[in-house]
Amino acid sequence: MMRALTNARIFDGFTWHDDSALLIEDGKVAGIVGVSELPSKAERTDSHSAIIVPGFIDLQVNGGGGVMLNDDQSVDGIRQICAAHAKFGTTSLLPTLITDTPEITAAAIQAGLEAKKAAIPGFLGLHLEGPHLSIARKGTHHPDLIRPMEHIDLERLLAIGHSFDVLMITVAPENTTTEQVRALANSGFIVSLGHTNASYETAQAYADAGARTVTHLFNAMSPLENRTPGLVGAALDMGGIFAGIIADGFHVHPASMGAALRAKRGPGRIFLVTDAMSTIGTDLDGLTLNGRKIYRKDGRLTLADGTLAGADIDMLSSLLFIHQTLGLDFEEAVRMASLYPAQAAGIDHKKGQLKSGHDADFVILDGEYKLKSTWIGGEPIFTA
Ligand SMILES: [Zn+2]
Repeated sequence: MMRALTNARIFDGFTWHDDSALLIEDGKVAGIVGVSELPSKAERTDSHSAIIVPGFIDLQVNGGGGVMLNDDQSVDGIRQICAAHAKFGTTSLLPTLITDTPEITAAAIQAGLEAKKAAIPGFLGLHLEGPHLSIARKGTHHPDLIRPMEHIDLERLLAIGHSFDVLMITVAPENTTTEQVRALANSGFIVSLGHTNASYETAQAYADAGARTVTHLFNAMSPLENRTPGLVGAALDMGGIFAGIIADGFHVHPASMGAALRAKRGPGRIFLVTDAMSTIGTDLDGLTLNGRKIYRKDGRLTLADGTLAGADIDMLSSLLFIHQTLGLDFEEAVRMASLYPAQAAGIDHKKGQLKSGHDADFVILDGEYKLKSTWIGGEPIFTA
């Protein structure tokens, strides 16, 4: 069956198609056409002049809908996280495990494998953030659980290397060798540098070994200074590197964010991540992580000592923050939530834009950018 969403303004990731129809067939985009070219077999639905944009891709999501992956390593937990974020336009995400014990890590991987088998809508793969990070840049990660990558850790990781569409791991050079990074990158991992004091030169060496992204640019890493560019400088200066950024206005000052966006050397881009916790889509006043209480107040999540502990923001709000507060074009803000994370994750041949043959993952917004519905694989997963 072919479906046509008519009377829409469609942004395909590059250009606008006014007064057009989005054609969907077998879960894929079958084209964008004008009214006169509508195939007669297509079942038509009037979009009432809505805006259609590519679905959002979030490569760092710790939880949502009251569930934290660190608390609940089950298919149902992953289903709830994906459903919570679909309400805010996310059509693909990586449930992200914050540094935890080897047992919890193994359970999260098992749950991910089952979620893939169950074809949970929105589940793209996993992101393991830690435990091989730097204590000095631990952020909200529990210092007792941070440790070097041992041979057995690498063996366990390599065994699942090609089991997911996307499998990401955040590591710090302080606790991971370039040989380990090379082995992971060669086994299908997207290796991301983060929670590290790595110098510019060290970052270059790890990028040469296969690291491809940087985790939440600016946060929990060596800063850009005059004689020491640090990981921030490396991320901006190295064209091959992509970097996630948290756009809630608390993790990174808007001026620093704007400067970084203008400075980034391509083709690698800066993309949006939410780093969201279980609070998204709920009215919870906090949560617990590795036995420690995290407080939710005024759009922030913090440990008792004030350390930021993940973000309390969804993907649509992040995109609108970039557009409305930073003044970036709406189109570029959309790309930061769709095309660029797809490129960073190496899935831009099937996601991140609305092009014939790509997955029919998209978001329908009204003229004020309020979400009307979220579609995954050509099916409406959430309707406001
Ligand atoms: Zn982090």
